[in-house]
Amino acid sequence: AINLGQGFPDEDGPESIRAEGARVLMEGPNQYPPMRGLPRLRDALAAHSRRFYNLAFDPGHEVIVTSGATEALTACILGLAGPGDKAVIIEPAYDSYRPILNAAGARVEVIRLAAPDFRLDAAALDKALTGAKLLLINSPLNPLGRVFTREELELVAAALERHDAYAICDEVYEHLTFDGREHVPLISLPGMRERCVRVGSAGKMFALTGWKVGWVMGPAALMEAIANAHQFLTFTTAPALQLGIAHGLDQEMEFTLNMTRALQKKRDLLSASLRKVGFALLPCEGTYFVTGSIKNLTNEPDSEFCKRLTREAGVAAIPLSAFYDAQAPRDLVRFAFCKKESVLEEAAKRLENYFR
Ligand code: PMP
Repeated sequence: AINLGQGFPDEDGPESIRAEGARVLMEGPNQYPPMRGLPRLRDALAAHSRRFYNLAFDPGHEVIVTSGATEALTACILGLAGPGDKAVIIEPAYDSYRPILNAAGARVEVIRLAAPDFRLDAAALDKALTGAKLLLINSPLNPLGRVFTREELELVAAALERHDAYAICDEVYEHLTFDGREHVPLISLPGMRERCVRVGSAGKMFALTGWKVGWVMGPAALMEAIANAHQFLTFTTAPALQLGIAHGLDQEMEFTLNMTRALQKKRDLLSASLRKVGFALLPCEGTYFVTGSIKNLTNEPDSEFCKRLTREAGVAAIPLSAFYDAQAPRDLVRFAFCKKESVLEEAAKRLENYFR
């Protein structure tokens, strides 16, 4: 089947980044880099935040390079939450949050985004954050493709202040916002500089998901706790990959901005054929993903429908119930459109034949 399930691009990111990584592999350094990452990459990350969000981070104390955003999230959770601490996630949620929180011994409470518009609201935030230490928030949001607005994030900020909680902001899709929408880092809002850490991923930024280079930035006091966890998770990340990504941040951001424009067109291409065969699509404001309801197509639960679609139509998608712990809606399915246009066209053809 054509894999529109897993969210990885089928074209590799910039050659100059790969060439720089290869050069460093051959010429070195090839020994343990500093625990918080090579200074060159930390400088480039701080410069990126300044350029795009006018946010200043001290590369010496406020930036840590990790082995992928997954490690960054794990280090953040282990560093900031202990056994019994209450942590809040927003469902549908990226599927690694809950297992990491469970491993840390945290108590998990859920804010459930609800149809039709899947927006955050003040009452739900207030209720969930009562007694909480930590909120995990992902914008642009995988799987729904929502980009939280400044107004929604202001509600989040108010609730964090009211309940004296921290936020781990998963911003791996920070550049993937469509139709001119802005990505607002929560940490940029008033009062949030000391309460938030922001997590990013070079894999998403430069279409190099297999490299597993990520990072986290935030106030020095929180970064200290996160560094203590990072020290015994991976300690560090391959120097060739770090320097390849530093080159990318310095020289190849145009690639990323062009990729977003290309992805918006791919979203439109796939969305048109999904609508044509009967999916009722939710608005896709960002990320690699578009989500649709299958109510007009079937009474099956999402997972059964996805199995049938893979076997019989030759197109794989992900049932949204995978992003919920309990009582998931069973009519939503996620498609990834970060694929070559020819692949999306072939998928569209298969879907149109199958549902004809
Ligand atoms: N957070 C979200 C929301 C993601 O979608 C992903 C990748 N699928 C990650 C984190 C993990 O990123 P990385 O590959 O850099 O570990």
